Amino acid sequence: MAKTPGIAADPATVLRAVFGYTSFRPLQREVIERVVGGGDAFVLMPTGGGKSLCYQVPALVRPGTAVVVSPLISLMKDQVDALQANGVAAERYNSSLEAGEARRVLVRLHAGELDLLYVAPERLMTEAFLERLRPLEIALFAVDEAHCVSQWGHDFRPEYIALGKLRELFPGVPFLALTATADEATRADVREKLGLLDAPVFAAGFDRPNIRYTVVAKSKPAEQLLAFLRRRRGDSGIVYCLTRRRTAEVAARLASEGIPAAAYHAGLPGAERTAVQDAFLRDELQVVVATVAFGMGIDKPDVRFVVHYDMPKSIEGYYQESGRAGRDGMPAEALLLFRLQDVVTARRLVEGGSDPDQVRVELHKLNAMVAFAESLGCRRRALLGYFGEALERDCGNCDVCLDPPERYDGTEHAQKVLSCVYRVGQRFGARHIVDVLRGADVARIRDLGHERLTTYGIGKDLSSDAWMSVIRQLVHLGYLRQDIANYSVLKLTPAATPVLRGERRVELAVPREGRRPAGARRPRRTADGLAVDEALFERLRALRKRLADAQAVPAYVVFSDATLGAMAALRPQTLEELRCVSGVGETKLARYGAAFLAVLAGA
Ligand code: ADP
Ligand code: ZN
Repeated sequence: MAKTPGIAADPATVLRAVFGYTSFRPLQREVIERVVGGGDAFVLMPTGGGKSLCYQVPALVRPGTAVVVSPLISLMKDQVDALQANGVAAERYNSSLEAGEARRVLVRLHAGELDLLYVAPERLMTEAFLERLRPLEIALFAVDEAHCVSQWGHDFRPEYIALGKLRELFPGVPFLALTATADEATRADVREKLGLLDAPVFAAGFDRPNIRYTVVAKSKPAEQLLAFLRRRRGDSGIVYCLTRRRTAEVAARLASEGIPAAAYHAGLPGAERTAVQDAFLRDELQVVVATVAFGMGIDKPDVRFVVHYDMPKSIEGYYQESGRAGRDGMPAEALLLFRLQDVVTARRLVEGGSDPDQVRVELHKLNAMVAFAESLGCRRRALLGYFGEALERDCGNCDVCLDPPERYDGTEHAQKVLSCVYRVGQRFGARHIVDVLRGADVARIRDLGHERLTTYGIGKDLSSDAWMSVIRQLVHLGYLRQDIANYSVLKLTPAATPVLRGERRVELAVPREGRRPAGARRPRRTADGLAVDEALFERLRALRKRLADAQAVPAYVVFSDATLGAMAALRPQTLEELRCVSGVGETKLARYGAAFLAVLAGA
């Protein structure tokens, strides 16, 4: 077999004919032109930004074989499957191959039949393999997940360090490094280590406009999660928990409710972890309940939601984990369940650390995360602001934008709380203050004689949750300080005095608790806003699953959700019409066109 047939030497044609896409995503064209012209590039794009095409298109346009370095063997297989489904001559070479298969790949490589070869870094950088490459025509080198080269990043891979040598060994071959890592220190380090200091940087913004951010007050998390999932039957998603034990509990609960779910964490045997990943990729598991150990090896583009059952420890973590939703650009949800108690637990853990500098940094990160969760302004603004990116206007696609908190004159509520904190001697936490305000008849209050305080029972008009919200807001507004080191005891700050004296008014937000539950499912829409026929989408999805199973590949390798959605909106009736749907290239048209048209004809 020759290299991918029918390739005209221009990027737009390759995009159209091979991948079935009509237009480039931001920066793709610029990067591709640069590399096709023989230049190097450092590419920063958020997850789902479309990094792969930045080297896949030049690989098809330039003569020779493109060598792609990718850190995870499972990712390589998925990428190669997806390319082969588009009729591209791609292979992988790594330790997971059997001898016969490995020999077949090498024969194709030496015969110049391959457009792309995916290699693990430790395999590529052996003397023997470099010797093999030397006489061959190399179209380009691409280092995916390039942040793995840096010790600053969280995914450091020692075997990546050696990749820097490729520049000297293959001068003149275009070299691309690609990453989604946002932080400055890691970026600089990667460019230095890979010898890309002179290469232009192509940096796309970090916004993920298709992800809807929602933060909900966590009260009964298991029920809240179930309610959320019931509205999303059939959609794939990830639920992140802080501890291994909790992943098991939550997964068992979901399974008992008939939701195909499984737990995943680093403590499970390797075989079990692989089985969970595979089942998730194949849509046999709808939900994976995981610790943060789950994710890096998962390039599933049609993850429709990510739920944080517990608060992440930093915005970086939150951004990365929630970013696993909606890589395909279709609407996706990021739901965070948040309560003050979790913050207290997290702080205690951080403060238990032995290195004081590290503790300071982690506390700072934690505080930024809490500020995000408690923000009364646009979430996306808060998120991007943290990465130093300014948003022109509020996003319109987060819980705050969609359902802005109502404000009221909370001076009286503030005064009640502040004076109660004062009366109990600034020696008690929020829970106790609420009990006193609401006149709770509990032993602890009687033992302390707190039922005799003037503030006892003056707050029966609000629920406990509502009072907790008032207290939280007062902490945020700087009237109260929570002494984290000391059982989260509440203390007044100097700013409280004018409020208690009636000299300053306090504006508060009506608590979100008890309001309409988050995230009613949005009707599906195509990228250009057409309404998707849901019933037809389901029938197309069923066909896709059958075709994928028959070839033992994940469903998205056949067609993405975006492509199915466009089919269900446009209802093409002929091959010509089907070819105009984004994501339908020539190979897939020939392979699957008739089957999909049959379903579409019945609609
Ligand atoms: P990244 O590696 O940056 O996370 P991918 O390269 O996996 O992102 O691309 C994410 C998704 O977007 C994939 O499903 C891919 O097919 C799709 N995609 C990429 N470029 C385009 C484009 N120009 N038009 C339509 N879809 C695209
Ligand atoms: Zn917003």
